[in-house]
Amino acid sequence: MSDSVAERPLFLDESTFLTRITRQDGRAIEDALGGPTLFEEGVKLAGGVVEATYAAADPPLLKRLRADRVPYVVDPQTVRFTGERFLQVGQFERIPYAPKAPLRPGDLTNSAAAELALAVMRFQQDVGASCYLAAVLPQQDADLQAWMIHNEQLLAASCAANGTGEIERRPLIAQVVPGRQTLASPELVMNRLMDHPIDAVYVQPLRLNPAHDSLEKLAQYVEFLLAIRDCGVSVIAGRVGAFGLVLQALGIPSFDSGLCQAEAFDLASLNRPLTERERQRRADGSSGGGDRRVYFELLKTTLKGRHARAILSDRQLRARFTCSLGCCQHGGFEELPNRRRKHYLWVRHHEVKELSNQPTAELRRDWVHERLRDARGAGSAVRKALSNGGADLPTFEHLDRWIGVLARQTRLTAAA
Ligand SMILES: [Zn+2]
Repeated sequence: MSDSVAERPLFLDESTFLTRITRQDGRAIEDALGGPTLFEEGVKLAGGVVEATYAAADPPLLKRLRADRVPYVVDPQTVRFTGERFLQVGQFERIPYAPKAPLRPGDLTNSAAAELALAVMRFQQDVGASCYLAAVLPQQDADLQAWMIHNEQLLAASCAANGTGEIERRPLIAQVVPGRQTLASPELVMNRLMDHPIDAVYVQPLRLNPAHDSLEKLAQYVEFLLAIRDCGVSVIAGRVGAFGLVLQALGIPSFDSGLCQAEAFDLASLNRPLTERERQRRADGSSGGGDRRVYFELLKTTLKGRHARAILSDRQLRARFTCSLGCCQHGGFEELPNRRRKHYLWVRHHEVKELSNQPTAELRRDWVHERLRDARGAGSAVRKALSNGGADLPTFEHLDRWIGVLARQTRLTAAA
């Protein structure tokens, strides 16, 4: 496409929140790009990660992003090809490089890997991506050796194709999808990555849930990201939600997050074949409504719809959580669930901006630490206020674990 942004996007060099753009979020993002009124500016997106299944539908939003010079990359979603599910999901039929059957370890010859890598880049170029996000397969613990070889084949082929023949040269981002073993030993991938001319590494663990994972696991994940960063390339952390602020405070520059999702990723459950009942519900169009989750800035947490509604219907409590950004200026706060995606977008950009305004690494850590402590206090107040309601209560224990991760890394840095 002639109107693509070919220069090096800022998110490769500066702290950035990248919006994960899926079919569900397209409309809300378009809305948010327009201002609260015709005379006010909308949110300025710093960048996006567009899912290939959405990009393949050629949505008007992508044209809008290009016109606004918002850089975006396209998640090729090749990790989905290792399970059965993609064959049952109609949107994958539009992906030109989707295989006919799931990929198993040992399946990819060098030429098949080169073909896949090239097709992914061709697709990304056609939909106007600012950089290439290289094809990747998950580093499953079972058959790890075979998966590592496949990832090496794919990355080598992606780098070789960049700027040759029909593929215009653009910055190239390698991907790593580490399983348990790889997370515990970053050196398994570091050296291989550094052999290639890449501009950044996008890391999406096979399974990550920052609001539920133990302090140990989160600390290990942070170490993994830092090990890659210390090799001198930029790092983008995939699907981390508010935990991205902790990562930025620790020197991991960029992260992405879907709007109002529960800040979690689990490839095994995404790739699991649908049951007959689930297929039926999808065919009826009765699935996907989901829970209307809402992000509360003060709590640094995305709450389930029923918890959000309980807070918003308690007048005293609600007063603590009002939002003064463009998303909420012209609407009653109790209607927040109706504009929850737009609100998420505004708030997240605002948080990242405030954090990056802190002039030193130490002040950035302090800033996040203070926000997490405030969130913990507000969380206790929420639990107390809602405890007579009889329903279950939201939990905020992850905030303690996040504070723990921050404190541990700060000690390590001080000792180094
Ligand atoms: Zn708002």
